[in-house]
Amino acid sequence: MELSLNLSYADGYKSRSQIARVITETWVSQNAYCPHCGCGTLVKDVNNSPVLDFHCPICKQGFELKSKSGKYGRKIVDGEYSTMISRITSSTNPDFFFLNYQLDTNRVTDFLLIPKQFITESIIEKRQPLSASARRAGWTGCNILVERIPTDGRIFIVKDSVVCQKDDVLSKLRETEFLTRIDSNKRGWIVDIMRCIDTLDNDEFRLSELYEFEEELQSLHPNNHHVQAKIRQQLQFLRDMGYVEFCGRGYYRRRR
Ligand SMILES: [Zn+2]
Repeated sequence: MELSLNLSYADGYKSRSQIARVITETWVSQNAYCPHCGCGTLVKDVNNSPVLDFHCPICKQGFELKSKSGKYGRKIVDGEYSTMISRITSSTNPDFFFLNYQLDTNRVTDFLLIPKQFITESIIEKRQPLSASARRAGWTGCNILVERIPTDGRIFIVKDSVVCQKDDVLSKLRETEFLTRIDSNKRGWIVDIMRCIDTLDNDEFRLSELYEFEEELQSLHPNNHHVQAKIRQQLQFLRDMGYVEFCGRGYYRRRR
């Protein structure tokens, strides 16, 4: 995998955003691989396709590319809220690629995969609608809250200018593939519980520690009024999937 961006593809383009789009898309076409099946080439979709930027010609998984010069912060500004929600809850929901590059060196510094199973409504923040005086009054955008994605859902392909092992990327993705078999409306809860387990920062934890997230989980799922029961239900599912094990007397262990 080559980390330098080829600027010759930007010839003829004037606007900065167009140049950035062309050179980053070209980089992905020439360097990225499918993290699901390992296929060495991703195919660029036709311009302005409403949903996907790239797809794998073998397993057909779609990918949406977001790129930025410099690093991403905790929030990534994205497009229209309702469009995003219908896209991530559809049966053709894409994985996201986040690409960061340095303008002075024209090199890719980070290339991060967020698999589709981790892109749930909990990580999409609705922004305030544009004011009545704005040209697009009432338009409501969204932010992607990267910090709400469990660490298992942040898979680096390039990290701090170092290319990660392809085998590691593929096996890390396989570990949470069980989530793709769950309906998107149920998956949100499971992924939220995985993030809470992450926050505990300890492979062994007690059920009572997860109950401490009750208020936060209630605000993410306002229509559910039995949060503690829901937490226990998600833990049973994660046990059945081999993600955690029950050690008895309210103790759990995260399996690695
Ligand atoms: Zn594939």
